[in-house]
Amino acid sequence: MGERPVILVLLGPPGAGKGTQGERLLRRIALDHVSTGDLFRDAVTTGSPAGLRAESYLHSGQLVPDQVVLQVIEEYLGVARGRDTCFDGFPRTRNQAEKLDDLLRQFNLAVTAVVYINVPDDVALARLLSRGRADDTEETARYRLQVYHEDTAPLIDYYRDAGVLIEVDGSGGVEPVAQRVWTSLQEAIR
Ligand code: AMP
Repeated sequence: MGERPVILVLLGPPGAGKGTQGERLLRRIALDHVSTGDLFRDAVTTGSPAGLRAESYLHSGQLVPDQVVLQVIEEYLGVARGRDTCFDGFPRTRNQAEKLDDLLRQFNLAVTAVVYINVPDDVALARLLSRGRADDTEETARYRLQVYHEDTAPLIDYYRDAGVLIEVDGSGGVEPVAQRVWTSLQEAIR
């Protein structure tokens, strides 16, 4: 990899395998894996102020307000400054994406590539229901997919227009998807 820090974004519906593929990527390249979902779940567990603000949203499958999310990201970028990073589950709204671009610009950085893991809703739903997380009841999982289509899916075009989108077929097993992600990324971050 070159001099410029690599900033990756994993995009896709809940159940696409973003977390799993993020972990896989870490075995191949050293980068910070920043999962906003994990950060919020940890904050809820420890009862921190961010956790208290986020708890009801996580529980119902709604998005945590942009302001809360962006504060967490701004704190991270302030500390990480130019470390290679893989964002997972962030950004999730157009506003978050624009603010991320602004923040990165302040640090003289930009999004290197966005890996869009594409899976059909029925596959995503089946995966969500099989992992048994607290916010993965059938009702909440369906709602989370609806929120994804309304608020997050527009980012596919946002990043395609920016020329950084890489689309990967996310159906099938973890290994073949990991291989596809790696192959397409290598071309993008050379
Ligand atoms: P995840 O683990 O990425 O599926 O996220 C779990 C939950 O955390 C979501 O359903 C939201 O309530 C919240 N969350 C995580 N990331 C974000 C984000 N970027 N914007 C808003 N809410 C988020």
